[in-house]
Amino acid sequence: MTSLSINNGLTLIATPIGNLRDVTFRAIDALMQADQILCEDTRVSRKLLNHYNIHTKLTSYHEYNATSLRPKIVRALQQGKKIALISDAGTPNISDPGYKLVESCLANDIQVSTIPGPTAVIAALSISGLPTDNFYFGGFLPSKTTARKKTFASLRTLDTTLIFYESPARLVACLYDSLEYFAGRTAVIARELTKLHEDVRRAEISELYNFYKGITRVRGEIVFLISPPQKEALYLSHDQIKKLLKERFADETLKDAVRNLAREHDISRSLVYRLALEMKDV
Ligand code: SAM
Repeated sequence: MTSLSINNGLTLIATPIGNLRDVTFRAIDALMQADQILCEDTRVSRKLLNHYNIHTKLTSYHEYNATSLRPKIVRALQQGKKIALISDAGTPNISDPGYKLVESCLANDIQVSTIPGPTAVIAALSISGLPTDNFYFGGFLPSKTTARKKTFASLRTLDTTLIFYESPARLVACLYDSLEYFAGRTAVIARELTKLHEDVRRAEISELYNFYKGITRVRGEIVFLISPPQKEALYLSHDQIKKLLKERFADETLKDAVRNLAREHDISRSLVYRLALEMKDV
């Protein structure tokens, strides 16, 4: 390849999310042609560069040094340097550093370009079997239960597929909290995509919770996806469902009432069943 793959200015280059071969030809060319590559952890990015025999200077750019480094990067770019930004994995600036640097470049009329490629959110969505026409990406969920629940509450009625990044250490707690807001919905746990132990599980949320709570230590990188609410569930409150159930209990068994109500109103059977059990407890 003889023509330059990298433009003037700052270029955000996507790198693999696991499998080192998931990188574009243009990304390799641009990483070779850049005057400097900004990355997060130089040890992580060095593996990619060594794999492709790239010797461009690597500089660490992360939240601890970004404020002091940014003006120097902008100056170098103004002097005509071609600088690449990559992250440890995937697309830079997607739940990774880069936003303020892009903003500073644009404010200084410096060209910002993309060399697109992998990102875990899109990789997971595309194979999830959940609606892809409309989705909400929430980045990393808050680590504390109260804040996480607040996030879930605010998204409960959103009529889109929901997507989050979650740490393996918090997965079980996160699934448990999600039951309160999304019971009955289908969810997907996409773990270790493109890696040796890639594992994608798709089931009703309570089934996923039961599965993962039985695992001593969940490992790996995770994308958590939740299906949109079923149409009727958007309009029927839990109290309204219970009221309809009560009417049916007059001449139907619990099992029949749950099945028929779920079918007639296009609501998940497990949600109706859970509400029916709550009524029995009262
Ligand atoms: N910039 C990256 C991207 O474009 O996807 C995301 C960086 S963020 C710091 C890292 C999170 O992305 C992980 O904790 C996990 O939630 C998700 N992730 C990254 N690689 C993944 C993979 N191979 N499989 C599943 N999730 C992954």
